Amino acid sequence: LKEQYDVVIIGSGGAGLVSALQARELGLRPVILEKMPTVGGNTMRASSGMNAAETNIQLREGIVDSFAEFYQETYQGGGRLNDPELLNYFTTHSGQAIDWLRSHGIILNDLTITGGMKKKRAHRPKSTAPIGAFLVNNLLWLLDQVGVPIFTQATVTELLKDDAGKIKGVNVQVAGEPKTIFAPAVILATGGFGASKQLLKRYRPDLLAYKTTNHVGATGDGIILAEHIGAQVLQMEMIQIHPTVQQDTPHTYLIGEAVRGEGAILVDQQGVRFTNELGTRKVVSEQITALPEQAAYLIFDQGVKERVKAIDFYASKGLVVSAATPIELAQKLQLDPTVLADTLIQWNTAVETKRDVKFGRTTGMQRKLEKAPYYAIHVAPAIHYTMGGLHINEKAQVLDQSGNIMAGLFAAGEVTGGLHGNNRIGGNSIAETVVFGRQAGQQAAVYLA
Ligand code: ADP
Repeated sequence: LKEQYDVVIIGSGGAGLVSALQARELGLRPVILEKMPTVGGNTMRASSGMNAAETNIQLREGIVDSFAEFYQETYQGGGRLNDPELLNYFTTHSGQAIDWLRSHGIILNDLTITGGMKKKRAHRPKSTAPIGAFLVNNLLWLLDQVGVPIFTQATVTELLKDDAGKIKGVNVQVAGEPKTIFAPAVILATGGFGASKQLLKRYRPDLLAYKTTNHVGATGDGIILAEHIGAQVLQMEMIQIHPTVQQDTPHTYLIGEAVRGEGAILVDQQGVRFTNELGTRKVVSEQITALPEQAAYLIFDQGVKERVKAIDFYASKGLVVSAATPIELAQKLQLDPTVLADTLIQWNTAVETKRDVKFGRTTGMQRKLEKAPYYAIHVAPAIHYTMGGLHINEKAQVLDQSGNIMAGLFAAGEVTGGLHGNNRIGGNSIAETVVFGRQAGQQAAVYLA
């Protein structure tokens, strides 16, 4: 670890790794500091995909999409509380972000759909790896090629400003030892605070009882560090609960939206559907929480399993119940067999007629649930994503409490607030790390030119 770099990047999730690569390719000398023993943060856990519009991948599947529709659906899904400037930059740079990844050999040429979206825009790899780990591993390899150093167990504890108020470096604990690193630019890519009881207590004490899908390092450090030197935070109380999280085992496992996107349904303890499974995360979570048992079963068949590679992973962890017939599945789950069988018949009719009379579902209806074996996963809502965070502008510059640009301080990814409004759409967070990670790297280069 040297004493001086062009830019210190705090955090090694998608936002940190992308901004480092972009900055390096523009001639800067970045360093990445990661507090955990392993890299990747919450990004390692992402499984749905990377949303983007107007891509060639979409056109190849006959999907004519537009930035305007992507904007509108994200805006509706976010309760119209999204920052229009950020959302506009995000949607109109999403297609380029897919191309940029492709030009680096990171190919996301399979498409799926997530809750709240009307078109297939979640881009993901064709290979077996879920998107998060795939992205992180590829970026690590690329960063190694261009000589960007990454230090783990390096916790940033303070951001340093000079007398003129410009960023001049950070204090960091490296394996327990305090060090100062000088750099005229800092990119905060520390992720969200879904695992911070302290911040939950401050902003959402009503959620303290919920489990979380987040890694233990998601404690909002970047928000606290920047707030300490005058940064503005916003929408901190907007916290997303993910509807389908398996939490009967000691470790919580998020069951990705792709399972529903490829055709799964949700049933209650009676074996009856109770919602449009592909409504936004907010609505589906509320519907599950409203059930007497506050939990539900995801039900699907072999056809869905073949489309979602992550299901093999869930099965390897013992989370999936399987049976040869719907009747047998119901017996194993202690549901009424005739009711569950009837639910499946009704659902398959809805798929066939393309009309879900009961709940108006219109997506994730490409296949009937009729191919044995049949499967179930027991799920309930858990804290998943923190929409609020640092106030940035479209240049990824952090703003202070009066709305002025903080010279030399940039932020990208979940540490920032405003893009998602009160509900993040699945597939938008990976897209955010790439779009705004690139932007932070680019604007750091402009700032230092
Ligand atoms: P994003 O999706 O926005 O990139 P992630 O959660 O994937 O966010 O990654 C954020 C990373 O930042 C995590 O690996 C986390 O451990 C790391 N991090 C958080 N706080 C600090 C800190 N104070 N110093 C160094 N790294 C940090």
